[in-house]
Amino acid sequence: MSFLSSSTKSKTVRPKKNIPEGTHQYDLMKHVEKTLESGNLQQAVALPEGEELNEWVAVNTVDFFNQINMLYGTITEFCTGKKCPVMSAGPKYEYHWADGQTKPIKCSAPRYIDFVMSWVQDQFDDEALFPSKIGVTYPKNFLTIAKTILKRLFRVYAHIYHQHFQEVVGLKEEAHLNTSFKHFIFFVQEFNLIDCKELAPLQELIERLLGK
Ligand code: ZN
Repeated sequence: MSFLSSSTKSKTVRPKKNIPEGTHQYDLMKHVEKTLESGNLQQAVALPEGEELNEWVAVNTVDFFNQINMLYGTITEFCTGKKCPVMSAGPKYEYHWADGQTKPIKCSAPRYIDFVMSWVQDQFDDEALFPSKIGVTYPKNFLTIAKTILKRLFRVYAHIYHQHFQEVVGLKEEAHLNTSFKHFIFFVQEFNLIDCKELAPLQELIERLLGK
């Protein structure tokens, strides 16, 4: 490994969360891909007939995590403690990391995003919360946790849009970012997974993407 690649790799680029082939969740992932190709987002986010809501939310949440992980991975060199000393989404919104145990921590954006991504990975790795085996039911609090995951992933989109959009454009990644975010918004709105007030930092963009 060259010096350059090892130094860039030390940033927050996490391994993709894999859904193993041959599982029902894998089939659901394929269903998402196929309907997305058709370009009909409303159809792509709708709960497929006969499917369980929790599992549908689980599969899509993993998918959004992977997309954000990849998108953020392309701009990590621009998102540094120096350039982004606070986790913000424009001048009006600032986020502090709260793990529920200690009082909220004010930290830089890369540190906050690192907290988010590793916390989300821990949730995915919890077999009781995200069961990978067929026939295992999801816990009663599943949707509550999934909502927290999606709320936190939204903040990563919001940070990228507010603080790094020019860099995203420079990398010619903006179409990719917009497609991913639009899919995300259709999904969370379909099942009411994020409070309106949480979406405020990107409200104008959301209205534009939804054609309102
Ligand atoms: Zn940043």
